Amino acid sequence: MSAILQVTELRKSYAGVHALDGVSFAVEAGSVTGLIGPNGSGKSTAIDCISGFQKRDSGEVVLAGNDITGLPAHQIARAGLMRTFQTVRIYERLSLRDNLAIAAQQFDPATWIDEFLRTRRYRQAVDKAEVRARELVELIGLKRYWEIETGILSYGQKKLVALAAALMPHPKIVVLDEPVAGVNPTRIREIEVALAALNRAGETFLIVEHNVEFITNLCHRVIVLDQGKKLAEGTAAEIHTDPRVLEAYLGM
Ligand code: ADP
Ligand code: MG
Repeated sequence: MSAILQVTELRKSYAGVHALDGVSFAVEAGSVTGLIGPNGSGKSTAIDCISGFQKRDSGEVVLAGNDITGLPAHQIARAGLMRTFQTVRIYERLSLRDNLAIAAQQFDPATWIDEFLRTRRYRQAVDKAEVRARELVELIGLKRYWEIETGILSYGQKKLVALAAALMPHPKIVVLDEPVAGVNPTRIREIEVALAALNRAGETFLIVEHNVEFITNLCHRVIVLDQGKKLAEGTAAEIHTDPRVLEAYLGM
């Protein structure tokens, strides 16, 4: 296994508050890695700095051997690091199929002139995107909604649509910010099953989440932040019994 994402000594302060105080960790290609920690421990700041939505003060982020530190978010996305957001961003008036077709065009080299002239390049790109979209929809269990307006889906299903959209351009890793926050408990399992299926198909995920059961079921490796520092790292089983983690979470 090799690291697809390497974060080294990441630091970020807000007006004197050390939100990140030298955090280092790696995500292995093909893994599901969890990033957990109490409120205010720096999780959101970490993924914002990694994905270019915040400027870090210092530290390095390397994606598949390429230094992406400090690049703007759209260039980081193009380099292969996509993220989903706590608030769902999809086209609710469009079908699942059209949502994914739009997502495919995002980084597509075909231009409007290709589209206008229906060039070979354009038609090939559309065909490839359709194959990818059908695979993803199958894996997330939403095949029966292919032609349906996504607005009618449950909140959890909409989150899966946003995830499939993020996966359309074949990213090297997807960073998920609290994928089951606000999702009906009966639907959480659906997201867990979908993520596990996508991971078996080769996708790599870094997941920020509060739901410990969800993280435990899915993650090969868990990184625990506390007060802007990495407190512990290991398998979910190792984390559960780590006295430092128990103290940070439960004050034991
Ligand atoms: P988490 O996502 O783990 O709850 P955050 O990364 O949101 O943690 O926050 C880490 C620390 O940085 C907290 O002390 C928080 O109050 C502070 N912080 C986060 N964002 C800002 C901001 N935009 N301005 C000032 N302080 C912030
Ligand atoms: Mg947060």
